[in-house]
Parts: sequence; structure tokens; C-alpha cells
Amino acid sequence: MQLTIRNLSKTYSNGVKALQDVSLDIPTGMYGLLGPNGAGKSTLMRTLATLQEADSGTATLGDIDVLKDKDAVRRALGYLPQEFGIYPRISAVDMLDHLATLKGIAGSQRKEVVSALLQRVNLWEHRKKAVSSYSGGMRQRFGIAQALIGDPKLIIVDEPTAGLDPGERNRFYNLLSEIGENVIVILSTHIVEDVKELCSNMAIINGGRVLFAGAPDLALQEMEGKIWEKSIAKSEVDEYQHKYKVISSKLVAGKPIIHILSDENPGEGFKAAAAGLEDVFFSKIMAA
Ligand code: ADP
Repeated sequence: MQLTIRNLSKTYSNGVKALQDVSLDIPTGMYGLLGPNGAGKSTLMRTLATLQEADSGTATLGDIDVLKDKDAVRRALGYLPQEFGIYPRISAVDMLDHLATLKGIAGSQRKEVVSALLQRVNLWEHRKKAVSSYSGGMRQRFGIAQALIGDPKLIIVDEPTAGLDPGERNRFYNLLSEIGENVIVILSTHIVEDVKELCSNMAIINGGRVLFAGAPDLALQEMEGKIWEKSIAKSEVDEYQHKYKVISSKLVAGKPIIHILSDENPGEGFKAAAAGLEDVFFSKIMAA
């Protein structure tokens, strides 16, 4: 099964070009869609989830025409949106049972399906508590449980780790990577770490355009020998930003360490640095 997106475009009525000629081939496994806020990720996710229309282009999931055959997509889709909005005051087990009913799972199977999902996302002990009383991490795991109802072939997860603490994020990563083995999971995020940990393929988008698509390793190879780092004084940051293509700056023990992009050794005390996915991300966005 593959998701094939061709020349997808969307301009909102206020003139914002949220998607511009987006083409992607998304295979089985975890696929990272990485871009800063406003890049067009949610627009793409919502279009694939049949929640809004594109202006032009096509998308096919196996033999399903995603933009036309919405019912078939919905049967094959699990969607974890960025925000649920209001969390229900009813218990997780009752809520999942309700959602399973909506997805057309017969009464005789429902109890078993719901129990298996609650165990899978490690919420069995908390199944009788209201979802509204859950912590951020528990809500996200509940979100995954509801997205998995009915064995979806395509799972879309929009900005899932925002607001999770490191422990919760780790548990969530483990859960996602287990799921990602046999289905297509698209993980939309602005957090480079999410993609680095989980995804075998990825795309970087910004301004509605695809800036890179491929394996993270390939992106890293392209950067090899081009990243240079230097520890500088805070007061020098502006000067260096004028003089070099500074792609990132982070504080280490209170001192800025900058990464710059340069095909040649810039001298001036810069050292060669191993490229990280952050370097790929920022350099693609800067070059666009
Ligand atoms: P992301 O998910 O990457 O943050 P979005 O797809 O939400 O990006 O937004 C892409 C661009 O489209 C942004 O400039 C955003 O302000 C704009 N946008 C999103 N939704 C709407 C809408 N319903 N009407 C007008 N503009 C929108």
C-alpha cells in the first residue's frame, strides 16, 4: 500500500497559498512531515483526512481516489487531530465503545476491540476514568486508541507531542513505532526530534512547498562536510549572522554555539561538525 500525492494545491479565500504543487510518495511505515508553524502541514493532513477540499491535484491510497471517494478513505483512515477540542466527561471505555459503534463495528466484537485497544495504549487501568481528567500523555494515547479503531491502513497524527513531557513523549514514540510497522503513519510535526527518532522517510515543507523528500539519512549525507560550528560570545551573534549563513544557534552552558553552512572551510576558528537533522531542516528552510 502506498499513498501517492500529485500536484496538490490549495489557496485559502484570504489568498494564503497553503499548498503549492505538492507531490509525495508515502510508503508503509512512519513518515515524517516536518515544517515550521504555518508551513501547510495541517492543510495537507486535513485534505488527506477528507475534512477539506484541495483546489487541484490528486491523491491515491492503494486503489482509493482520496479526494473523490471519501467514504472509502474514511473506512481506511485513523486520524489524531492536533486538537480534539472538548474532551468528553464520559469514561474512556464508554467513549471508545461509542466511536467503535460509529465506525460500524458490530456489538458482538466491540467489547473485545475496545479492550484490546485500551490495553495496547496502556490505559486499561484508567479505562473507567473520564477522558477529561486525563493528563496530556494519557489523552494522546487515548487519541491513538480511537485512531486505531477498525484497523486503519492510513493513520494521520497531527503535531502529537506538543505539550508532552519527556517521559510521556517517549511512551508515545514507542507506541507509534509499534503501530507503524504495517500501515502508513504520517506524523506531522515542527519538532525535528520526533522525525529523527521515528521516521524512515520524511518530507520538509514550508510555505506550502516540498523542500526535501526522502530518507533522513539521505538528507544528512547531502549536508556532509558543509556544517561548521563555533562557540562565540552573545554580543557577536549579529555580526556572525551578517557574515555567514548561520543555520542554527544554541546555548551550551550559557554560550552560543552557532552552526553555519559553507561548502568550504571558513577558517576563523570554525570546526567541522557532524550534520544533524536540525541542520537539514534549518538550511532547507533558509535556502527556500
Ligand atoms: P501548519 O499546520 O504547518 O502550521 P497550516 O496548514 O495550518 O500550517 O497553515 C498554512 C497556512 O494557511 C498558514 O499561513 C495559515 O495561516 C493559513 N491558513 C490555515 N487555515 C486557514 C483558513 N481556514 N483560512 C485562511 N488561512 C488559513
